[in-house]
Amino acid sequence: MDTRKILIAEDEEANFLYLKEVLEEFHLGIVWAKNGREAVEFTRLHKPIILLLDIKMPIMNGLEALQIIKAEFPDMPVIAQTAYAMDEERIKCLEAGCDDYLAKPILPDQIIEMVSKYLKP
Ligand SMILES: [Mg+2]
Repeated sequence: MDTRKILIAEDEEANFLYLKEVLEEFHLGIVWAKNGREAVEFTRLHKPIILLLDIKMPIMNGLEALQIIKAEFPDMPVIAQTAYAMDEERIKCLEAGCDDYLAKPILPDQIIEMVSKYLKP
C-alpha cells in the first residue's frame, strides 16, 4: 500500500470529486483542503508529495497559501489550477513559486500527465 498523499486544495466540491476520481488510478492517498488556510494546515500535517492548488478560494486564496507553503516546503511540487484565459493569474503563480499550472477546465489526460511528471517513484 502506497502511503504517499496528494493534497487537492479546491473550494468547489464537484471539482474536488472530479480530480479525486481522475487521480484514483495512482493509488495514493487523497486529502481535500477546502480553502487556502486548510491547504497550509494540511500541507504541514500530511506532507503531501504533490499539491494541486486552486487559486480562487475563500478565507485565504491560493496565491497567499502558495507563498507560505513554498517558504516552508520549497521542494514540494505545487501545481496551480488557474482560471481559463487568465494569463495574469498564471504569471503570478509562477512568480510566487508554483512549479506548473493547469488551466481550468482540466481534462483527465492533462491531470494524469502533469501528476506523472512530478511523481517520483
Ligand atoms: Mg475555486
